[in-house]
Amino acid sequence: MDYDVVVIGAGNGGLTASATLARKGQKVLLLERHNIPGGCATSFCRGRFEFEVALHQLSGLGTPEKPGPLRMTLGSLGVMENLEFVEIQDLYSVYMPDGFTTCLKPDKNQTIAELKEKFPHEKEAIDNFFDLVYTYANDMIGAFIFRDPEPSRDKYPNLYRYALRNAKEVLDDYFKDPLLKTVISVYWGYLGVSTDQLSFAYLAMLLFQYIEFKPFHVKGGSQALSNAILNVFLTAGGRARFNCGAKRILVEDNQVIGVETDQGDTIETRYVVANISPMETYTNLVGKDLIPNNTLQEMNSRILSNSAFTMFIGFDCEPDELNIRESTNFLMASTDISRSLHDRMGRVDIQDELMVMSCYDISDPTFSPPGTCQINLVTLKYGDPWLTIPPGQYHEAKFRCAESMLKRTEKIFPNIRKHIEEIDIGTPLTHMRYLGHPAGAVYGFESRTKDSFFFQPGNRSPVDGLTFAGGWVGDQGFEPTLRSGVSAAKSILRQMNS
Ligand SMILES: Cc1cc2nc3c(=O)[nH]c(=O)nc-3n(C[C@H](O)[C@H](O)[C@H](O)COP(=O)(O)OP(=O)(O)OC[C@H]3O[C@@H](n4cnc5c(N)ncnc54)[C@H](O)[C@@H]3O)c2cc1C
Repeated sequence: MDYDVVVIGAGNGGLTASATLARKGQKVLLLERHNIPGGCATSFCRGRFEFEVALHQLSGLGTPEKPGPLRMTLGSLGVMENLEFVEIQDLYSVYMPDGFTTCLKPDKNQTIAELKEKFPHEKEAIDNFFDLVYTYANDMIGAFIFRDPEPSRDKYPNLYRYALRNAKEVLDDYFKDPLLKTVISVYWGYLGVSTDQLSFAYLAMLLFQYIEFKPFHVKGGSQALSNAILNVFLTAGGRARFNCGAKRILVEDNQVIGVETDQGDTIETRYVVANISPMETYTNLVGKDLIPNNTLQEMNSRILSNSAFTMFIGFDCEPDELNIRESTNFLMASTDISRSLHDRMGRVDIQDELMVMSCYDISDPTFSPPGTCQINLVTLKYGDPWLTIPPGQYHEAKFRCAESMLKRTEKIFPNIRKHIEEIDIGTPLTHMRYLGHPAGAVYGFESRTKDSFFFQPGNRSPVDGLTFAGGWVGDQGFEPTLRSGVSAAKSILRQMNS
């Protein structure tokens, strides 16, 4: 055998799977089609700026005194000592077109106090809602994180009551004021599914996690995190090949026997971790005829998530000159948080979508060169309409959308245009090109209530030796995908020993 395990894709899940396996003494080859590690967790340079591609807020890290699950995962991989994390002091700010604004802090009491001040007519409902979020999160932790072998309705009443309800139904049960519902639910923008389709579980867990374990960023951006995990892998004896994708997974008698690379060589192995989509894996790498129908049907029943349209902007001044005061800002055009807003993601043009603007220099003043700062301005868009644009019209569409975003942002931060020094734009087609995901989907399959984590297929495949890691087979986001690689590695080690 050339290698014990071949890992396809150096995204979060592929990196932690590789590092875990190599540290356990396995001979591991990591194949990555791009020329750098990280997948979404990367950066790129333009002029004097290094732009963050994806990470707005890292969840689940916690502090040394109150560690979250991610701190434990990264600690067990030995990467913590090579990284410096920066605690983000705000949860998020919300800006409405009529001038309404509010800034929530990552502290339960402060968040509740701020909401009660802005919405005094909903005081009692605000207390009740946060009680629900916390009891629900505790039920989830008891039943799933601690893997209760005998979960029951009596033990976890809120889990059973709300598991199959969407976020909008629960918000409607608790609140009357549409603006309050909008403010409390903006994190749907991190999940890609509007509140009427989003499982309440996700909204509750995101609010709980960011408040309890605080939002973080990392010095050097998410690229520093990816590089640190890669270094652990290489130090443990692993080998990585960049600019070298996997073209085929070779299977005989339903057992993985090797991987053929884009460069034409064949590597013998009995175990593969695929940090890429099941569609790509089953259809192009393995071959559909080797996959049972029920697996293909289950996969086809899921809905491909949206992609993103992102503007990366470097300014020739500090954030205060632009009147940017918080790291994470949700720029809303209306109090519509349901279907019609979701439908807009299916059109090329940008009008009244939810936009997230992150300014990393607020929490880390050394993030950009002295006297400058940068923002990452993102909205969600499906990839399919972008695929219908004729190549000759692509640039015009991209600049038209960027101009719409800039105009909306200028209404809140009027000084930005004159201070722009660098600007670059990523469309759904950019994500498709760099990640290799169908239609540039950045959140894998949609986290609709019917497909939420209670119904996820898990990392095992019907092919012996083939295991998945990453956001396509579990939850999306840095914390879940980093942890998914460790789970995939452990699953392979168990298979080897069985
Ligand atoms: C704009 C944006 C903002 C985000 N913001 C946040 C945030 O604030 N907080 C948060 O927690 N999460 C955020 N996320 C989500 C998070 O970045 C992702 O969930 C996570 O990084 C996905 O990791 P993954 O393991 O699934 O791998 P991916 O990042 O999907 O990487 C897959 C890798 O596989 C490689 N590959 C593909 N095909 C092949 C092949 N055939 N052979 C070899 N290699 C191949 C690709 O090049 C890529 O490197 C954001 C994502 C985006 C796009």
